[in-house]
Amino acid sequence: MNFGLTFRAAKGCWTVNLSQQCSHGSTGLFVPPSPPVDPEKVKELQRFITLSKRLLVMTGAGISTESGIPDYRSEKVGLYARTDRRPIQHGDFVRSAPIRQRYWARNFVGWPQFSSHQPNPAHWALSNWERLGKLYWLVTQNVDALHTKAGSQRLTELHGSMHRVLCLDCGEQTPRGALQERFEVLNPTWSAEAHGLAPDGDVFLTEEQVRSFQVAPCARCGGPLKPDVVFFGDTVNSDKVDFVHRRVKEADSLLVVGSSLQVYSGYRFILTAREKKLPIAILNIGPTRLMFLSQKLGLSLYPAAKDP
Ligand SMILES: [Zn+2]
Repeated sequence: MNFGLTFRAAKGCWTVNLSQQCSHGSTGLFVPPSPPVDPEKVKELQRFITLSKRLLVMTGAGISTESGIPDYRSEKVGLYARTDRRPIQHGDFVRSAPIRQRYWARNFVGWPQFSSHQPNPAHWALSNWERLGKLYWLVTQNVDALHTKAGSQRLTELHGSMHRVLCLDCGEQTPRGALQERFEVLNPTWSAEAHGLAPDGDVFLTEEQVRSFQVAPCARCGGPLKPDVVFFGDTVNSDKVDFVHRRVKEADSLLVVGSSLQVYSGYRFILTAREKKLPIAILNIGPTRLMFLSQKLGLSLYPAAKDP
Protein backbone atom coordinates (compact mmCIF):
# COMPACT_ATOMS: atom_id res chain seq x y z
CA MET A 1 0.00 0.00 0.00
CA ASN A 2 1.40 3.35 -0.92
CA PHE A 3 -0.82 6.37 -1.11
CA GLY A 4 -1.48 9.73 0.42
CA LEU A 5 -4.59 10.25 2.45
CA THR A 6 -6.10 13.66 3.00
CA PHE A 7 -8.94 14.37 5.36
CA ARG A 8 -10.39 17.27 7.21
CA ALA A 9 -9.87 17.17 10.96
CA ALA A 10 -11.25 19.56 13.54
CA LYS A 11 -7.85 21.25 13.52
CA GLY A 12 -7.53 21.70 9.76
CA CYS A 13 -6.85 19.78 6.61
CA TRP A 14 -4.16 17.18 6.86
CA THR A 15 -2.38 14.77 4.56
CA VAL A 16 -0.37 11.73 5.38
CA ASN A 17 1.29 8.93 3.52
CA LEU A 18 -0.68 6.20 5.22
CA SER A 19 1.95 3.72 4.26
CA GLN A 20 5.10 3.51 2.20
CA GLN A 21 6.24 1.02 -0.35
CA CYS A 22 9.03 -0.96 1.26
CA SER A 23 11.33 -2.71 -1.14
CA HIS A 24 14.47 -2.31 0.93
CA GLY A 25 16.09 -4.68 3.37
CA SER A 26 14.20 -6.99 5.68
CA THR A 27 11.28 -4.64 6.28
CA GLY A 28 9.81 -5.42 2.85
CA LEU A 29 10.06 -9.18 3.29
CA PHE A 30 6.80 -9.63 5.11
CA VAL A 31 4.63 -7.19 3.19
CA PRO A 32 2.29 -9.22 0.96
CA PRO A 33 2.31 -8.32 -2.75
CA SER A 34 -0.62 -6.18 -3.82
CA PRO A 35 -1.84 -4.40 -6.95
CA PRO A 36 -1.86 -0.59 -6.94
CA VAL A 37 -4.58 1.00 -4.86
CA ASP A 38 -7.57 2.32 -6.81
CA PRO A 39 -7.53 6.16 -6.44
CA GLU A 40 -11.33 6.13 -6.30
CA LYS A 41 -11.21 3.89 -3.25
CA VAL A 42 -8.69 6.20 -1.62
CA LYS A 43 -11.12 9.07 -2.17
CA GLU A 44 -13.87 6.99 -0.61
CA LEU A 45 -11.67 6.35 2.40
CA GLN A 46 -10.88 10.06 2.65
CA ARG A 47 -14.59 10.80 2.62
CA PHE A 48 -15.22 8.13 5.21
CA ILE A 49 -12.62 9.57 7.57
CA THR A 50 -13.60 13.18 6.95
CA LEU A 51 -17.22 12.42 7.83
CA SER A 52 -16.27 10.61 11.03
CA LYS A 53 -16.23 12.61 14.24
CA ARG A 54 -15.57 9.72 16.61
CA LEU A 55 -13.48 7.23 14.68
CA LEU A 56 -12.54 3.93 16.26
CA VAL A 57 -9.61 2.16 14.58
CA MET A 58 -8.80 -1.51 15.03
CA THR A 59 -5.40 -2.76 13.85
CA GLY A 60 -3.97 -6.22 13.29
CA ALA A 61 -0.66 -7.80 12.29
CA GLY A 62 -0.90 -6.33 8.79
CA ILE A 63 -0.07 -2.86 10.07
CA SER A 64 3.30 -4.06 11.41
CA THR A 65 4.59 -6.01 8.40
CA GLU A 66 6.31 -2.87 7.07
CA SER A 67 8.12 -2.61 10.39
CA GLY A 68 9.66 -6.02 9.62
CA ILE A 69 7.30 -8.19 11.70
CA PRO A 70 5.56 -10.97 9.76
CA ASP A 71 1.81 -11.48 10.02
CA TYR A 72 0.14 -14.86 10.44
CA ARG A 73 -2.13 -15.39 7.48
CA SER A 74 -0.91 -13.53 4.39
CA GLU A 75 -0.29 -15.63 1.28
CA LYS A 76 3.42 -16.40 0.68
CA VAL A 77 4.83 -14.08 3.37
CA GLY A 78 2.75 -14.82 6.49
CA LEU A 79 4.02 -17.17 9.21
CA TYR A 80 1.50 -19.90 8.32
CA ALA A 81 2.46 -19.80 4.63
CA ARG A 82 6.23 -19.81 5.18
CA THR A 83 6.59 -22.31 8.02
CA ASP A 84 4.80 -25.12 9.83
CA ARG A 85 5.22 -23.27 13.12
CA ARG A 86 2.12 -22.31 15.01
CA PRO A 87 1.80 -19.95 17.97
CA ILE A 88 1.99 -21.43 21.46
CA GLN A 89 -1.25 -22.53 23.10
CA HIS A 90 -2.12 -21.02 26.46
CA GLY A 91 -2.99 -24.36 28.08
CA ASP A 92 0.34 -25.92 27.07
CA PHE A 93 2.28 -22.97 28.48
CA VAL A 94 0.51 -22.99 31.84
CA ARG A 95 0.58 -26.78 32.20
CA SER A 96 4.17 -27.62 31.28
CA ALA A 97 7.49 -26.38 32.68
CA PRO A 98 9.46 -27.84 29.70
CA ILE A 99 7.19 -25.97 27.28
CA ARG A 100 7.74 -22.75 29.25
CA GLN A 101 11.48 -23.40 29.14
CA ARG A 102 11.38 -23.81 25.37
CA TYR A 103 9.19 -20.74 25.01
CA TRP A 104 11.45 -18.50 27.10
CA ALA A 105 14.67 -19.77 25.50
CA ARG A 106 13.29 -18.91 22.07
CA ASN A 107 11.84 -15.63 23.28
CA PHE A 108 15.18 -14.72 24.91
CA VAL A 109 16.94 -15.17 21.57
CA GLY A 110 14.28 -13.33 19.59
CA TRP A 111 13.88 -10.44 22.01
CA PRO A 112 16.74 -8.13 20.93
CA GLN A 113 15.46 -8.09 17.36
CA PHE A 114 11.75 -8.14 18.21
CA SER A 115 12.05 -5.28 20.70
CA SER A 116 14.06 -3.16 18.27
CA HIS A 117 11.31 -2.87 15.64
CA GLN A 118 10.12 0.65 15.05
CA PRO A 119 6.73 2.11 14.13
CA ASN A 120 6.13 2.64 10.40
CA PRO A 121 4.20 5.53 8.78
CA ALA A 122 0.85 3.82 9.44
CA HIS A 123 1.51 3.75 13.22
CA TRP A 124 2.66 7.37 13.10
CA ALA A 125 -0.43 8.35 11.10
CA LEU A 126 -2.76 6.90 13.73
CA SER A 127 -0.84 8.61 16.51
CA ASN A 128 -1.19 11.90 14.62
CA TRP A 129 -4.91 11.32 14.13
CA GLU A 130 -5.19 11.08 17.91
CA ARG A 131 -3.25 14.32 18.34
CA LEU A 132 -5.55 16.03 15.82
CA GLY A 133 -8.69 14.87 17.61
CA LYS A 134 -9.70 12.65 14.71
CA LEU A 135 -9.21 9.30 16.41
CA TYR A 136 -11.60 8.47 19.23
CA TRP A 137 -10.06 5.17 20.26
CA LEU A 138 -7.48 2.71 18.96
CA VAL A 139 -7.75 -1.03 19.55
CA THR A 140 -4.89 -3.26 18.48
CA GLN A 141 -4.64 -7.02 18.27
CA ASN A 142 -0.85 -6.70 18.10
CA VAL A 143 1.52 -7.38 20.97
CA ASP A 144 4.50 -5.54 19.45
CA ALA A 145 3.95 -2.21 21.29
CA LEU A 146 4.53 -0.26 18.07
CA HIS A 147 1.48 1.97 18.66
CA THR A 148 2.86 2.85 22.09
CA LYS A 149 6.27 3.56 20.57
CA ALA A 150 4.54 5.90 18.10
CA GLY A 151 2.96 7.77 21.02
CA SER A 152 -0.66 6.54 20.86
CA GLN A 153 -2.38 6.89 24.24
CA ARG A 154 -6.08 6.38 23.55
CA LEU A 155 -5.16 2.75 23.04
CA THR A 156 -6.32 -0.70 24.12
CA GLU A 157 -3.87 -3.53 23.53
CA LEU A 158 -6.48 -6.24 23.22
CA HIS A 159 -4.01 -9.12 23.45
CA GLY A 160 -1.55 -7.43 25.81
CA SER A 161 2.06 -6.56 25.10
CA MET A 162 5.25 -8.60 24.77
CA HIS A 163 6.98 -5.70 26.50
CA ARG A 164 5.45 -6.72 29.85
CA VAL A 165 5.79 -9.93 31.86
CA LEU A 166 3.15 -11.35 34.19
CA CYS A 167 3.60 -13.75 37.14
CA LEU A 168 1.07 -16.58 36.86
CA ASP A 169 0.96 -16.94 40.68
CA CYS A 170 1.03 -13.44 42.20
CA GLY A 171 0.03 -11.42 39.14
CA GLU A 172 2.90 -8.96 39.37
CA GLN A 173 3.69 -7.15 36.11
CA THR A 174 7.28 -6.31 35.25
CA PRO A 175 9.03 -4.91 32.16
CA ARG A 176 10.21 -7.53 29.67
CA GLY A 177 13.53 -5.68 29.29
CA ALA A 178 14.39 -6.35 32.96
CA LEU A 179 13.73 -10.07 32.49
CA GLN A 180 16.19 -10.13 29.59
CA GLU A 181 18.90 -8.95 31.97
CA ARG A 182 18.01 -11.67 34.48
CA PHE A 183 18.14 -14.29 31.71
CA GLU A 184 21.58 -13.04 30.71
CA VAL A 185 22.86 -13.39 34.29
CA LEU A 186 21.41 -16.91 34.60
CA ASN A 187 22.76 -18.03 31.22
CA PRO A 188 26.23 -16.47 30.93
CA THR A 189 27.62 -19.06 28.52
CA TRP A 190 24.43 -19.95 26.69
CA SER A 191 24.17 -18.74 23.14
CA ALA A 192 22.02 -19.57 20.17
CA GLU A 193 21.32 -18.10 16.80
CA ALA A 194 17.88 -16.77 16.04
CA HIS A 195 16.20 -18.39 13.06
CA GLY A 196 13.07 -16.91 11.59
CA LEU A 197 11.24 -14.41 13.75
CA ALA A 198 7.48 -14.88 14.29
CA PRO A 199 4.85 -12.16 14.98
CA ASP A 200 5.18 -12.72 18.73
CA GLY A 201 9.00 -12.68 18.81
CA ASP A 202 9.31 -16.46 18.75
CA VAL A 203 12.30 -18.07 16.99
CA PHE A 204 13.33 -21.66 16.27
CA LEU A 205 15.87 -23.51 18.47
CA THR A 206 16.94 -27.15 18.77
CA GLU A 207 15.88 -29.26 21.78
CA GLU A 208 19.49 -29.42 22.93
CA GLN A 209 19.79 -25.65 23.03
CA VAL A 210 16.50 -25.40 24.90
CA ARG A 211 17.31 -27.98 27.58
CA SER A 212 20.31 -26.07 28.92
CA PHE A 213 18.47 -22.74 29.18
CA GLN A 214 17.84 -21.49 32.74
CA VAL A 215 14.41 -19.86 33.19
CA ALA A 216 14.03 -17.04 35.71
CA PRO A 217 11.05 -17.28 38.09
CA CYS A 218 9.06 -14.34 39.50
CA ALA A 219 11.45 -12.26 41.63
CA ARG A 220 8.70 -11.65 44.21
CA CYS A 221 7.10 -15.08 44.75
CA GLY A 222 9.10 -17.58 42.67
CA GLY A 223 6.09 -18.36 40.45
CA PRO A 224 6.25 -19.02 36.72
CA LEU A 225 6.42 -16.01 34.39
CA LYS A 226 4.45 -15.48 31.22
CA PRO A 227 4.51 -12.62 28.73
CA ASP A 228 1.55 -10.32 29.47
CA VAL A 229 -0.17 -11.39 26.27
CA VAL A 230 -3.21 -13.46 25.43
CA PHE A 231 -1.92 -16.67 23.86
CA PHE A 232 -4.04 -18.65 21.44
CA GLY A 233 -6.55 -20.72 23.42
CA ASP A 234 -6.84 -18.10 26.16
CA THR A 235 -9.55 -15.46 26.42
CA VAL A 236 -9.31 -11.70 26.68
CA ASN A 237 -10.10 -10.35 30.14
CA SER A 238 -13.84 -9.60 30.27
CA ASP A 239 -13.37 -6.10 31.74
CA LYS A 240 -11.20 -5.23 28.77
CA VAL A 241 -13.76 -6.67 26.34
CA ASP A 242 -16.57 -4.65 28.01
CA PHE A 243 -14.40 -1.52 27.87
CA VAL A 244 -13.84 -1.89 24.13
CA HIS A 245 -17.52 -2.67 23.49
CA ARG A 246 -18.35 0.63 25.22
CA ARG A 247 -15.81 2.51 23.08
CA VAL A 248 -17.31 0.93 19.94
CA LYS A 249 -20.80 1.96 21.01
CA GLU A 250 -19.61 5.54 21.59
CA ALA A 251 -17.86 5.72 18.21
CA ASP A 252 -19.55 6.87 15.01
CA SER A 253 -17.52 4.78 12.56
CA LEU A 254 -14.98 1.99 12.54
CA LEU A 255 -11.84 1.55 10.46
CA VAL A 256 -10.02 -1.79 10.40
CA VAL A 257 -6.36 -1.68 9.35
CA GLY A 258 -4.30 -4.78 8.56
CA SER A 259 -6.50 -7.51 9.97
CA SER A 260 -8.16 -10.48 8.30
CA LEU A 261 -10.60 -10.50 11.25
CA GLN A 262 -10.22 -14.27 11.53
CA VAL A 263 -9.73 -14.13 15.30
CA TYR A 264 -13.01 -13.80 17.16
CA SER A 265 -11.57 -11.62 19.94
CA GLY A 266 -11.35 -8.77 17.42
CA TYR A 267 -14.21 -9.79 15.14
CA ARG A 268 -16.80 -9.51 17.93
CA PHE A 269 -16.33 -5.72 17.95
CA ILE A 270 -17.15 -5.64 14.25
CA LEU A 271 -20.37 -7.48 15.09
CA THR A 272 -21.18 -4.85 17.72
CA ALA A 273 -20.45 -2.07 15.22
CA ARG A 274 -22.72 -3.69 12.65
CA GLU A 275 -25.46 -4.12 15.23
CA LYS A 276 -25.18 -0.40 15.88
CA LYS A 277 -25.17 0.14 12.11
CA LEU A 278 -21.87 2.02 12.20
CA PRO A 279 -20.16 2.57 8.87
CA ILE A 280 -17.16 0.26 8.65
CA ALA A 281 -14.10 0.56 6.40
CA ILE A 282 -11.49 -2.16 6.05
CA LEU A 283 -7.99 -1.47 4.78
CA ASN A 284 -6.20 -4.75 4.27
CA ILE A 285 -4.16 -6.70 1.74
CA GLY A 286 -5.90 -10.03 1.19
CA PRO A 287 -9.38 -11.29 2.05
CA THR A 288 -11.03 -10.65 5.39
CA ARG A 289 -13.83 -12.37 7.27
CA LEU A 290 -16.18 -9.53 6.38
CA MET A 291 -15.28 -9.49 2.70
CA PHE A 292 -17.98 -11.36 0.86
CA LEU A 293 -17.08 -9.77 -2.44
CA SER A 294 -14.06 -10.99 -4.31
CA GLN A 295 -11.71 -8.09 -3.72
CA LYS A 296 -8.14 -9.24 -3.37
CA LEU A 297 -6.91 -5.89 -2.18
CA GLY A 298 -8.73 -4.28 0.40
CA LEU A 299 -10.34 -1.10 0.87
CA SER A 300 -13.88 -2.18 1.56
CA LEU A 301 -16.48 0.24 2.70
CA TYR A 302 -19.58 -0.90 4.44
CA PRO A 303 -21.93 2.05 4.72
CA ALA A 304 -24.33 2.24 7.60
CA ALA A 305 -27.35 -0.05 7.39
CA LYS A 306 -26.04 -1.98 4.41
CA ASP A 307 -25.17 -5.61 4.84
CA PRO A 308 -22.20 -6.83 2.81
ZN1 LIG B 1 4.95 -13.82 41.55
